Amino acid sequence: MPLPPFVWTVRGTTPGPTVMLLGGVHGDEPVGTVLVDRLRFAFGLAGVAAETESDDVRGTLVLAYGNPVALRRCTRAAEGRRDLNRWFLPKDIGRAPSETDAEDLRRARALAPLLAAASYALDLHGSSSDSPPFLCALSITARHRALAPLFDVPYVLGDPHGFLAADLGLREAGTTDGWVGRHGGCGFGYETGRQDDFSRAEIAWAGVRRFLVATGVLAPEADERCFGLRPAPPAAPPVFYELLCCTAAEEDGFRYLPGRNQGWTPVRTGEPIGQYPSRRLVCAGMGGLLVFPKAPRLVRRGENLFYVAAKT
Ligand SMILES: [Zn+2]
Repeated sequence: MPLPPFVWTVRGTTPGPTVMLLGGVHGDEPVGTVLVDRLRFAFGLAGVAAETESDDVRGTLVLAYGNPVALRRCTRAAEGRRDLNRWFLPKDIGRAPSETDAEDLRRARALAPLLAAASYALDLHGSSSDSPPFLCALSITARHRALAPLFDVPYVLGDPHGFLAADLGLREAGTTDGWVGRHGGCGFGYETGRQDDFSRAEIAWAGVRRFLVATGVLAPEADERCFGLRPAPPAAPPVFYELLCCTAAEEDGFRYLPGRNQGWTPVRTGEPIGQYPSRRLVCAGMGGLLVFPKAPRLVRRGENLFYVAAKT
């Protein structure tokens, strides 16, 4: 099977896992594509899609731009409200393709077999409001718990109750990590920080390198030869949280109260987070940490404004 466009693979000369690294699943989050490029240039992979073989890799390393059309447009999705990271569901991937399919669904179909074949996958994202970096996965498994401390992030966020899916009226979220997990692999989303903030790219890059070495796909000596001295381990392991509450917009024109649009900040039950033009306050449904505060420019009535997470 020919590779889809903007996918590159490095086949190792010795057996090992299949590991996939994705950037730009959301087209307005370019930090991940920069890290994908570092790897593909190190392996001499140019052009729109290419394969190579390397003694430095064990198994197969798959590199991909998630959504090239959305990246070209600098938009979250290629079209419509349902972005690529909400299409990885059996009922959508599995149904017969149609001319009226959204561009994002077409891309999901192209990437789905690669993600399904991955033992491990890391999907690099950015957030619309500022936030410390964190890892996420719909369901956190023992493998997630073992690998998460490789990343220099304070938090790991699970969504076992499916709050992210509800945002677009879906029953399941259809994320890349969910698709990997459904097929027996271990997938992470990695929110590196605000989507236009490249200042944390080096922290993410160190995590990517540790991840590739720990999964076994990249030999430690090859990592050091290609990319320099191996990064020191993170100072502290992350704390695990899960989404426990979400609040949807009931009116237009929502604005955050000063300082309340920051991800991973503590909130108390009933504490005001924002306000509509009618002066009606929007309050936290429970106490915990405020996560995924959606930037007001992206808020639509009926969709989620923000979530509250608590320690697992
Ligand atoms: Zn994203």
